[in-house]
Amino acid sequence: MIRDLELAFVKLHILYHADKEEVFGVGLMEELSRHGYEVSPGTLYPTLAKLERGGFLTCEARTIDHKQRKYYRITKAGISLLNEMKSKIEELYREVVSG
Ligand SMILES: [Zn+2]
Repeated sequence: MIRDLELAFVKLHILYHADKEEVFGVGLMEELSRHGYEVSPGTLYPTLAKLERGGFLTCEARTIDHKQRKYYRITKAGISLLNEMKSKIEELYREVVSG
């Protein structure tokens, strides 16, 4: 249950950062660990793939220094979802935190 809730927060972080800039797996893991989320590659990569399949992220593979890396950016559908979630986060915050 806790993992389910955390995973929702992780997805929101991913959408938020993919809106600001291109993101990739390792960079996201570092960013998320700064926020206290220890996300393993076994969780993160399937989550990114799921967001991509859902049409919320686009993925582009590029080779840098002989290493292939997948870069993700938010899509229009992802921006809509993020905006919808922002108002829900605000609403939740008002009740649960500020209450
Ligand atoms: Zn973040």
